[in-house]
Amino acid sequence: AATGGPSTARQVKLDKECELRVEVGPDTPLRLRLLTGNAEIFGTEIPPEIWVTFPPRLKFAVFTWYGATIEMDGTTETDYTADETPMISYVNVHAVLEGRRNRAKALPSDSDSSQGPRVIVVGPTDSGKSTLSRMLLSWAAKQGWKPTFVDLDIGQGSITIPGCIAATPIEMPIDSVEGIPLEMPLVYFYGHTTPSVNADLYKVLVKELAQTLERQFAGNAESRAAGMVINTMGWIEGVGYELLLNAIETFNATVVLVLGQEKLCSMLKDVLRNKPNVDVVKLQKSGGVVSRSAKARQKARSYRIREYFYGLANDLSPHSNVANFSDLTVYRIGGGPQAPRSALPIGAEPAADPSRLVPVNINRDLLHLVLAVSFAKEPEQIISSNVAGFIYITDIDIQRKKITYLAPSAGELPSKILIVGTLTWLES
Ligand code: ADP
Repeated sequence: AATGGPSTARQVKLDKECELRVEVGPDTPLRLRLLTGNAEIFGTEIPPEIWVTFPPRLKFAVFTWYGATIEMDGTTETDYTADETPMISYVNVHAVLEGRRNRAKALPSDSDSSQGPRVIVVGPTDSGKSTLSRMLLSWAAKQGWKPTFVDLDIGQGSITIPGCIAATPIEMPIDSVEGIPLEMPLVYFYGHTTPSVNADLYKVLVKELAQTLERQFAGNAESRAAGMVINTMGWIEGVGYELLLNAIETFNATVVLVLGQEKLCSMLKDVLRNKPNVDVVKLQKSGGVVSRSAKARQKARSYRIREYFYGLANDLSPHSNVANFSDLTVYRIGGGPQAPRSALPIGAEPAADPSRLVPVNINRDLLHLVLAVSFAKEPEQIISSNVAGFIYITDIDIQRKKITYLAPSAGELPSKILIVGTLTWLES
């Protein structure tokens, strides 16, 4: 493994079924182009000849099925060639899914079997779940399908900012640099980056998302046949495991892909053995998957929020807006102070309602928090409503009762109902 190569253009020849694993250096981007043959990055083909620029810190692999020559220009943290990859087993899964999509498409669209595969990818953190999801989606899109990507990972999701679960149709192979286009995803705001804060709320939102997708599929035979790829959290113990089972059930998953964990695989096989229409498949984790420390994950979350407001290459110009306290209403879901014991009948325990709406006073506690702008028209609709976007609170002026916030654009927010959780960001 070569580490920290010099900043000069160099060529790499890749044999068939090999990959070049790259970690871009921390400060400067890396340019790369395909000189000969064919190659792909996580399922998306690289166009021939054209230089592609990868931002600092990005980790990726250039894989070739039949051989290729790559040229790189810039500094890398690491770059090395690997001839052992699980790509054949991954593409075999794709072939099976493809068969099921074709079968679903051939059937009358009112029959149950016109539903294409619903794949859920599970495994510990840093097992390559997001990467495998991405490959399966890009390979399907390349063949003309429009599968739905569902991301249930509130820690490191790829559709929107952390603290959310979201879904979006994938109509084209996913761009190797830009990732998932952020056009019109369906987003539900959980507001925390760990599920244990309010596991019941997480379940409620997963159910809302699943029901909304179910309604969309009912009127869209094309997306129903294409099916879904569902990415999950890396939390697979205790409550995390319970939430996984809940997601498998709620989305009626038909294929469970388990990455790199024997124990999880056998546990799932065991609990799902009564469901003959659910296949549990164990897949090898790629040796290229890079493990990240808790600190690196925290940083990645922060970059993700930054990207929402400023764009990947600082190409967006968010707007600083000022509103009166009275223009906005802020709610917290669940948590908050419970009814005091003294207010309850003797012997009754204060029950925590996970979806209880708690109105929040606007004060300096909101500073540096990221809030969601709900599509709800009435507070009662907050739980069942998806969100339009996010704002970042940069100043609270108690005296003048003014709130200053960063939003993707100027002008009035789509709604005055905001949701707050524990999602913070320190703009740097
Ligand atoms: P998970 O979703 O299980 O947490 P990811 O799919 O996000 O894991 O992978 C972790 C990191 O490893 C990501 O930055 C990803 O780009 C990188 N990665 C995955 N597979 C490879 C590979 N074959 N070569 C190089 N980097 C990879």
